[in-house]
Amino acid sequence: MSPQAHTPRELPPVPVQFAASARDASALEALARQARADLERINVPPPAWVLPAEAATDDAPVLDVLVAGAGMCGQTAAFALRREGIVNVRLIDRAPRGGEGPWGTYARMLTLRSPKQVGGPELGVPSLSFRAWYEAQHGADGWAALHKIGRIDWRDYLLWLRDTVGLPVENGVALRKVSHSDDGRLLTAELEDAHGRCETVRTRQLVLALGRDGSGAPRWPEFPSLKRDDAQAAARVFHSADAIDFGAWAGQRIAVLGAGASAFDNAASALEAGAAQVVQFVRRPWLPQINKSKAASSHGFLRGFEALDDMRKWRVYTYIFEQQVPPPWETVRRCDAHANFTLRLATPWHDVAPDQGGVTVTLTDGTAERFDAVIFGTGFDVDLLDRPEIARYTPHIDTWADHVPPEDAQRHAEAARFPYLGTGFELQGTTHGAALRRMRLFNWGATMSHGALAGDIPGLAIGATRLAQAVARDLFVEDADRHWARLQAHTEPELLATRWYRPTD
Ligand SMILES: Cc1cc2nc3c(=O)[nH]c(=O)nc-3n(C[C@H](O)[C@H](O)[C@H](O)COP(=O)(O)OP(=O)(O)OC[C@H]3O[C@@H](n4cnc5c(N)ncnc54)[C@H](O)[C@@H]3O)c2cc1C
Repeated sequence: MSPQAHTPRELPPVPVQFAASARDASALEALARQARADLERINVPPPAWVLPAEAATDDAPVLDVLVAGAGMCGQTAAFALRREGIVNVRLIDRAPRGGEGPWGTYARMLTLRSPKQVGGPELGVPSLSFRAWYEAQHGADGWAALHKIGRIDWRDYLLWLRDTVGLPVENGVALRKVSHSDDGRLLTAELEDAHGRCETVRTRQLVLALGRDGSGAPRWPEFPSLKRDDAQAAARVFHSADAIDFGAWAGQRIAVLGAGASAFDNAASALEAGAAQVVQFVRRPWLPQINKSKAASSHGFLRGFEALDDMRKWRVYTYIFEQQVPPPWETVRRCDAHANFTLRLATPWHDVAPDQGGVTVTLTDGTAERFDAVIFGTGFDVDLLDRPEIARYTPHIDTWADHVPPEDAQRHAEAARFPYLGTGFELQGTTHGAALRRMRLFNWGATMSHGALAGDIPGLAIGATRLAQAVARDLFVEDADRHWARLQAHTEPELLATRWYRPTD
């Protein structure tokens, strides 16, 4: 049966979509005031309680937590830490303000895939929700009329939330390298700012919120004639996560590889920038139609998944990965609106050869086609070997390959490369185990161990809260004897003067 057999003659219309709505600064300021009052009403932040680090043998400052990466996950983790009364925290991001994460950089969709009601970064505070942000500016009618959340609206909402809560992000500061003290009780992080200035900070805990690619890198498929460092390739072969000047492609012929959301978004961007022709190639004979991960985003899954035994966890995510996620309906229609767009299913590539005048793509049936440029919409790989920040530890980090039968690990090579995390997102391993347990991986790489708690929006509030509570638990347990001593030394009278008042000695 051909795909056309299922195509209804009249396709339903696509609702209006836009990446950014109009801003109303005074409405947002009023909402921010309300949100701060709401936080005060629920006693956020509670009093700070973490004792100064004991492990340091000198007076140099020690952080309780360094959060590396201030995208959606890092900022929400920092908010959750504050809600636990953990304030000796630094939050850094190598990108400039507004350039954190994909929203204002390499994401090319008009709207989020998620339904507009999605919550997470607000950690359950109604006046910090996206809906409150949108309604403050566009009213209840505006909200009712909104189809899905605009991509730039989402970026600006995250920035507003961060400012409202008062999370001080240090932009332009990159985590370069991590090491640890001899006893494994302190981590040392080497930071570098945008001017190349380096700084070394010590921290008791490190949250690695380095992004969708934060446990790996953009996935570049291998082809016999394609070398990444080839200058011809740099000008004509791109990954969807690259900065791309689509305007330069007006009148050109572009090929896109892949069937996921980003492949379609990039095809649409090329079409809208005036490309003469965009041909998208997909290996499978059909586009995936069903998003299985939706069925794994109930509160049951999000809260309970971590407690499952290894084989059940493995079964769920290897299945979801194998089924693949369909591209959003609106995005496919965005491409299909152009007569010069072609989707070629069941057409895998054998080779990609860039040269001075273009790129030759050879298909597996031996035919060759010429394009001016190609884009790989092939997603992100999970391989900690690709992360220089923790390179020193990579060979020692426990991965799923160590916990499933070798034939399963071979069959699902990427799933097997996911780190095998502890209950508080901590890395694990026998060598350097004490130091590894102080590093918490709060990004897509956590999925095999915790479910989708540190990648997609719906699981974020549960994930960030779990992370922050685990940090609070471990900081307390580490200092338990000092907390005991403080408890004994506590002399604040609670029973004030009565007839039976007895002065304390
Ligand atoms: C195109 C696209 C569309 C998506 N749409 C949706 C959607 O509709 N719904 C949904 O639920 N999810 C969606 N996601 C998935 C997920 O919500 C996003 O990937 C989200 O950005 C994940 O947040 P994050 O904090 O993990 O990563 P990011 O937002 O990427 O943030 C990571 C941050 O870490 C910083 N960083 C990296 N390395 C360093 C370093 N060494 N030092 C300092 N900083 C560093 C980066 O600059 C970045 O700002 C989408 C993802 C993509 C890529």
